Amino acid sequence: AHEGILRRQSLRESAARTYARSLPIVPVRARGLTIEGADGRRYLDCLSGAGTLALGHNHPVVLEAIRTVLDSGAPLHILDLATPVKDAFTTELFATLPGELSEKARIQFCGPAGTDAVEAAFTLVRTATGRSGLMAFSGAYHGMTSDALTASGGARHTGVTRLPYPYDYRCPFGTGGERGAELSARWTESLLDDHKSGVPRPAGMILEPVQGEGGVIPAPPNWLRRMREITAARDIPLIVDEVQTGVGRTGTFWAVEQSGIVPDVLVLSKAIGGSLPLAVIVYREELDAWQPGAHAGTFRGNQLAMAAGTATLAYVRRNGLDRRAAELGARMLARLGGLAAAHDCIGDVRGRGLMLGVELVDRAADADPTGARPADPALAAAVQRACLDRGLIVELGGRHSAVVRLLPPLTITDEQADAILDRLADAVTAAVR
Ligand code: PMP
Repeated sequence: AHEGILRRQSLRESAARTYARSLPIVPVRARGLTIEGADGRRYLDCLSGAGTLALGHNHPVVLEAIRTVLDSGAPLHILDLATPVKDAFTTELFATLPGELSEKARIQFCGPAGTDAVEAAFTLVRTATGRSGLMAFSGAYHGMTSDALTASGGARHTGVTRLPYPYDYRCPFGTGGERGAELSARWTESLLDDHKSGVPRPAGMILEPVQGEGGVIPAPPNWLRRMREITAARDIPLIVDEVQTGVGRTGTFWAVEQSGIVPDVLVLSKAIGGSLPLAVIVYREELDAWQPGAHAGTFRGNQLAMAAGTATLAYVRRNGLDRRAAELGARMLARLGGLAAAHDCIGDVRGRGLMLGVELVDRAADADPTGARPADPALAAAVQRACLDRGLIVELGGRHSAVVRLLPPLTITDEQADAILDRLADAVTAAVR
């Protein structure tokens, strides 16, 4: 069955398939960190549905929440009508929101995917400001719909002013650290304040507090505060995309908590649906210039996703899984530091909480002035394959697809964390041989 399924799907599906090309497995069962394939092989899943599974696969509280809705006779499809399930989800979500948003926020349920919520955020700030331009950052990933794609780093579209995201390791300014972050902030200010050759005031600025697909690049807290000041001083709504960083992943419930900034719009998806599709924006009430019916969509009321999401948010909050992610992530990062010291093909290791990245470089090449050697996507792909051979699922990311990304569930044990790193270390050794 295993080979047949792989062969048929590779023939029938578009060449645009992403994960399936590098992960030729046929998952049939999953629990927590573990996936079992149709061929009986077991894997530790550090992709977690592209960072979706805060509680891992099929967590009992998530399954129970879904079963409760199924058994209750509640409608499964109900457009955007108010229901007890939606009420519980909204209440639980609002209890987690940062700063002023926790007291007073509006929520808009969007289409099922993160990209729908990004698109809704853009429409919201364009309506509220009457302006149309957007600012986004190099290396960003916001989704695959038209404007979200335009705001993403790899896309060659116009209409969005792209600014340099602070990147310590391959700092675009050649300085790294606080200095690089400050130069990024000044670049932004000069573009906004130069009324002759700069850019018109945009409808909004969008950023990720830790770039995920962009290669696990955490923004320095000071830079985030500077972006907050710069946008606030010019009345530009700041949209923070926590689609991947949210729900404890980075060591705090929302990643913005680590810098203390409060966004005007928060874009949320992935983990908030507890493995099922759900995407929302929450934002300052004053921005709600939408006319009734201005934002529609058939699939904004997935009751199962809301129930699974409520269970996930509550479980993370009550069990302090955000603090657990911070503590375990710091230990894993320290061990990755040891791995980097032992292998000169590892250029950098970094991350926040359980969002970790290992950047592979060409050890034979010369370093640039920042000390970074060229990224090595072929080696990264070899490491990914060697991981899979050792029963470890990891994804690649980054501007050159040379960053191995680890996004394990927040529920993993110390022993599981060790097993992940043992297999990764073994895979790196095998791939460089
Ligand atoms: N924003 C970020 C930060 C993401 O990581 C992603 C997905 N990886 C998206 C938006 C898009 O979400 P979706 O794939 O659900 O459309």
